[in-house]
Formats: sequence, C-alpha cells, structure tokens
Amino acid sequence: MKVLFRLLFALPLLTAVLFAAESKTARPNILFIFSDDHAYQAISAYNDPRKLLETPHIDRLAKSGMLFTRAMVPNSICGPSRATVLTGKYNHLNGFYNNSNSRFDPAQPTFVKMLKASGYETAVIGKWHLISEPSGFDHWHILPGQGIYYNPPMIKNGERVKHDGYVTDIITDLSLDWLKQRDKSKPFLLMAQHKAPHREWSPALRHLGWDKDKPHAEPATLFDDYSNRGKAVRDQDMTLEKTFTALDAKLSTPGSLNAEQRNAWDAYYSPRNAKFNAANLTGKDLVRWRYQRYMHDYLGCIKAVDEGVGRILDFLKAEGLEENTIVVYSADQGFYLGEHGWFDKRWIFEESLRTPLLARWPGVTKPGSVNHEIVSNLDFAETFLDAAGLPIPADMQGRSLRPLLAGKTPADWRKSFYYHYYEYPAPHHVRPHEGVVTDRFKLVRFYKTDADYWELYDRQKDPQELRDFYNDPAYAKNVVELKQELGRLRVELKVPAETPREAFGNAPFAGEPSPTQPPGKKKNPKK
Ligand code: CA
Repeated sequence: MKVLFRLLFALPLLTAVLFAAESKTARPNILFIFSDDHAYQAISAYNDPRKLLETPHIDRLAKSGMLFTRAMVPNSICGPSRATVLTGKYNHLNGFYNNSNSRFDPAQPTFVKMLKASGYETAVIGKWHLISEPSGFDHWHILPGQGIYYNPPMIKNGERVKHDGYVTDIITDLSLDWLKQRDKSKPFLLMAQHKAPHREWSPALRHLGWDKDKPHAEPATLFDDYSNRGKAVRDQDMTLEKTFTALDAKLSTPGSLNAEQRNAWDAYYSPRNAKFNAANLTGKDLVRWRYQRYMHDYLGCIKAVDEGVGRILDFLKAEGLEENTIVVYSADQGFYLGEHGWFDKRWIFEESLRTPLLARWPGVTKPGSVNHEIVSNLDFAETFLDAAGLPIPADMQGRSLRPLLAGKTPADWRKSFYYHYYEYPAPHHVRPHEGVVTDRFKLVRFYKTDADYWELYDRQKDPQELRDFYNDPAYAKNVVELKQELGRLRVELKVPAETPREAFGNAPFAGEPSPTQPPGKKKNPKK
C-alpha cells in the first residue's frame, strides 16, 4: 500500500520531468544570422544574371533548406528593420521610424523576451543599432552604433571591451565561443548580426584583391536618366556619380588600422589609387571606375560573412546540433549594387524592398526548395514563437512562416504588402513614401514634401521599374483597385492618418527650422 502510494505520488512528478526533458529536446534551437545591407544580388543561390560572386556557405542553406524570392521589408533601413524583426510589428507601432532620432523602447514585448521566459537561453552578438541597450537577452556583446570594421570596440553586457582584428571574423568567433559555453540543458536563440557589408564596405585584409582586378558586370540601369518618373527618383542623393565619397572609394586609409594592417591595406589600394589619380577620369568613366571599386569592396566584405556562415554551420554539424537547429540567414534590407546608378537602399523598388532570406529547418523544410510568396521580416517573430510552441500575441502583424517552410502555403496567405519609408531629407534625400506591393504592381504615394504625387509600377511589363504608369488610362482600373487595397491595409495595420513629425527624423525640411534646434538657431539644411 505504502509502495503503491509512493508510486502514485511520484508518477505526476516523473511525468512532468519526462515531459520537460522531452519538450526541451523537441524545441528547436534558433540561429538567426543577420547581415547589414546584404543585397540578394550578392548571394550566388539567388542566381543574379550578373554573377557577382560565389557564396558557397550561404548557398548551403538554399541546398539544405528554402530560398525565398520575395522577402520584403516594411521600411528599408537598418534600425527600423531590426525593430520589426524583434517586435513583429510595423514601425508606426514599435516606434522606431528612422536612424536619425528613433530609439527602441526596450520595455515593449519582443519574441526574444518570450523565448527567454519560456526557457530558451538567448544571446545577440554583433550589430544592434537600436540606441537603447538590448533587453531579453541572457548575453549580449554588441557594436556601439554602426561599429567599425577594423579593431572594433564592443559592449559586452554593458561593459566596453576592445577587440583586435576584422569585425566579421570577431562576430563569428564570439558567436562560436558563446555556442560552446552555452547552457546545454536549454534550447538556444542566437542572433549573430554582422556589420558587413554596410558602408563603407571595408573587406577583410585577406580578401583585398580577391577579384584579381577582373571587371564586375555592370547593371543594365547604371546610367538610368530617371525619365518617365516623378521628382523623387531624380532628386535623391545616393548616386555613384554625385554622392560617392573619397572614403567610399578608399582613396584615404581608415584611422583604426594598426601598422601591420595599414601596410596590407596600402599594398592593395595605394598603387591602384595612384593609377586612378593619374587617369583623371570624368563622366561615365568615373562612374564606371567607382562601380568597380565599390563592387571589389562590397563583395569582398561578403566573402568574410560567407566564411563565417560556413564556420558556424560546420560547428552545428560537428556538435550534432544540425538536426534540431533552425538556421535563418537574412539581412536588414536589400541594397543597390549600381542599379539606377545608386548605392544605399530606402526605396519601395525591388533591390531595396526585397531582402535575402534562406532558412533551414530539418524535418520541416524540404532541402533545395524555393518559395515565391510575399513574406517579410515581420514574420520572423511569429515563426520563432511558433517553432518554440509558444502562443503568438494578437497584436503582432506578421505570420508564422512554418506552413510555407513545410511546403504548404495557406490559401489565405498575403497577396499584398504595405510599405512605408519615412527618413527625410538627410541623409540621402529620399522622399517619404508609402505604397502597396502585389505580385505584379506597386502603387506608391510620395508625400510631405514639394513632390506630393502617386506612381504606379508594373513589374510584368517593366521589371526594372523605369516607368510610372499612374496616368496611363490603360491602368485606371488597377489604380482604383490598388488604392482600395492600400486603404484596406492601412486600416488592418493600424497606420495613423497623420505621420508624426518625428518619424521623418531630426533634419529640417526645406524652410523649416531644425526640430532639434531652438527657433532662431537655424542649422543649414544639409543635402
Ligand atoms: Ca542596413
């Protein structure tokens, strides 16, 4: 009787222990590898016609998982995208509109906090860029602000630390170090977030000359004349022709290099710069030279990112973690690699709207699969909560990608996407705009400036987005339908009728005193 009693008493406890053990092993680890400004055109798995470089390790995720061809961001700049990843919300709800005066409110709910509360061990390593300190992480080791490429200072759980070496390698090393010492009784979330290939695109010294001075294919729209479109596209400040600086072109040596690094840097750049200076290039020749220099540097940065991805994937395999770890590779937005004569991002147009997304979930995702649905970085938070078996808060605005990853797109999956860019006029003079994106069309409204108008793009007829069809009578019906859809999305997503002034940032609009300066102390508006 006593034995039986003991057994009955112990049974629920035993069940609970077993269940906990089982649910812990069943809950997948999540490895989120995130780079900054990495264009999908610069991942070989995306098969860009220019064939700019090989990324064998990132491509391993396409081979063993799923590649998404239409992953979109709701606002194509760094901080706002990162805030969306954490919250699963648009910037008008998470409060982070721009990189100029926004600050992430660390008190708001994030998927990271929910994973941690449910027993995950959580860490973020690398670029953070949300002004306030990370919250919801057991461990954080981040770059201050944008960070620097060589010998970067970092902040480790609140303490300043100095690192020697190249930033991408350091972030990879720190990520591996954390994985090795983690609490193995818990599932983990690791956000390994690179600075690269952000401007000024400084490669690892071992990668200088990686392209052996072979010319990189130019985009068809390198010399876009911005005809057939409105003022906004003509009046930006992000061209290789006008905006590209001597620092961007590596015509000066960065101050953070030590003597040995400086030698390696100068050994590559000095003779090439001397040749460039002697050639005295102008006009299209100058743009072409800048494009080649830009591609050497930008793509060179990605080589170290790709190697880092390889080292982390190798570690997962060696440790037997491969089967129970979801691996996601993405970037905070897309980027222009000379298309339309541009670098940078911000626009609703394809190269900046779309971000690379590759995901591997063994047992769920069929290796080598490709998905063409409209997905978004809004969806990450819900996907990770879903993977961890946690409830998804009703106010999150994305959707779990789990069914898509499993090869089953729900019938009611989104057919349209709402976009809203705010930061203006500094730094790149891209006018605020919102719009709706479908598989074929983009309806865009530029607003709040002297250029207040609509545009319509038809990617089926005009894949490079070189022509505005808004006033073409043949599209009148499409315009009406798309405006309706935009209105519907604005209601569904709780977009405020008026955008608050601070959403556009600190820089003054033409004729406006700076919002950060008291009246009478006007700063010169910088273009
Ligand atoms: Ca970015």
